[in-house]
Amino acid sequence: MKLVFLGPPGVGKGTYSARIMEEMNIVQISTGDLLREAVGNKTELGMKAKGYMDAGELVPDQLIIDLMKERIDGMDSFILDGFPRTIPQAEALEKEIAIDNVVSFEAPEDMIIQRLSGRRMGNDGKIYHIDNNPAPEEVEVTQRDDDKPDAIKNRLVVYKNQTEPLIKYYTEKNKLIKVDATGSVEEIVTNTINKIEE
Ligand code: AMP
Repeated sequence: MKLVFLGPPGVGKGTYSARIMEEMNIVQISTGDLLREAVGNKTELGMKAKGYMDAGELVPDQLIIDLMKERIDGMDSFILDGFPRTIPQAEALEKEIAIDNVVSFEAPEDMIIQRLSGRRMGNDGKIYHIDNNPAPEEVEVTQRDDDKPDAIKNRLVVYKNQTEPLIKYYTEKNKLIKVDATGSVEEIVTNTINKIEE
């Protein structure tokens, strides 16, 4: 099964896809994680991407398209978390591979800001939240630079202008599944799996 997870930053795509990867045994590919790894390793891609990421801007399409082409080559099952994020990326993906469904996670903006500003990354690779899902004492957490207030504001504007048009794009292709992402992680994960399997 080839799936795309779509939704504003902070809606919980990374959390849901990690859970669904366990439940359905599908590989999750997160462009954000791949880019953060590249930044951490100071690769050529990482050096090019860092400034855009810190400012909450999108990394240029061609860099991401090349990265993803290579990553998904020959795979017949995956969840794409954070890609495509623009119409040119969606068109490039379509040329490579046929996607089965696109899941669009929806939540109101005040909830998204609350989730993003309280999000913390654990040194165990898991995602936590200072109120909703605090890390255990032994886990060290850090805040992503782009989860700070100025970058959050910019990311939401970027999402509206560049990524939200994908909802219409995939609706017209009859691939869109909408999921209400306001409930608990468990509810959202169960609901998503049911809708994918329908
Ligand atoms: P994420 O972890 O999905 O929120 O991604 C973090 C940052 O990585 C984004 O704010 C962008 O700067 C960059 N990024 C991730 N995926 C993409 C993409 N598909 N296109 C462009 N930039 C991306």
